Amino acid sequence: QVEGVQGKTFVIATDTTFAPFEYRNESGEMTGIDIDLINEIARRQGFSVDIRALGFDAALQAVTSGQADGVIAGMSITDARKEVFDFSAPYFDSGVQMAVRADDDTITSYEDLSGKTVVAKTGAEGLTFAQSIADQYGFTVKALDKADTMYSEVATGNAAAVFDDYPVLAYGINQGNGLKIVTPKEQGSSYGFAVLKGSNPELLQAFNAGLSGMQTDGTYQAIIDKYLKAPD
Ligand code: GLN
Repeated sequence: QVEGVQGKTFVIATDTTFAPFEYRNESGEMTGIDIDLINEIARRQGFSVDIRALGFDAALQAVTSGQADGVIAGMSITDARKEVFDFSAPYFDSGVQMAVRADDDTITSYEDLSGKTVVAKTGAEGLTFAQSIADQYGFTVKALDKADTMYSEVATGNAAAVFDDYPVLAYGINQGNGLKIVTPKEQGSSYGFAVLKGSNPELLQAFNAGLSGMQTDGTYQAIIDKYLKAPD
């Protein structure tokens, strides 16, 4: 156990819906890979967590404004964010990909987005990526705060495509959200737990120690399998 965290309660900010990393189950409780990870790390390291599902951008802002101690939200470790946050060891490899409505055969490449509108999440890497190629391919990018609105825009035909992280897209498609993937995965970054730069160093250390122990004894893999392993 890392010293300085025992008996403390840390406010941990997360996204509202970023399944399978965080989402509400049928009983309305927050669940998912990130939630299981932080709860188990807290248990092992002897601290408590007060998890607040604020939305992705709001979660980052809660940490930068000091209203939360840490964020776990499938948050990609990027150089730009390292200016503001200190990150844990990476715990999951990810990256951005595009999805379109399953019955839409008119879009099979970024070229086909010309003149169209795409959606992505406010503050997320999917948004940054979409914006980075929008001029080149002549499409408009609309930022939305919540995954459910973002996905329904595509399902209803209001937006031509969504840019999001590929494990999340794949999970949603498996759950039958009516979308499909038509383009390759883009280069991506790994997810990390983050605290405000220079703040809560013992929380970050405790996260890393807890994660490392869970990776060694198989608990980490069991959590991943619980949410991602295809049923036999
Ligand atoms: N991994 C992406 C990012 O960090 C998206 C995270 C999310 O939507 N919760 O920007």
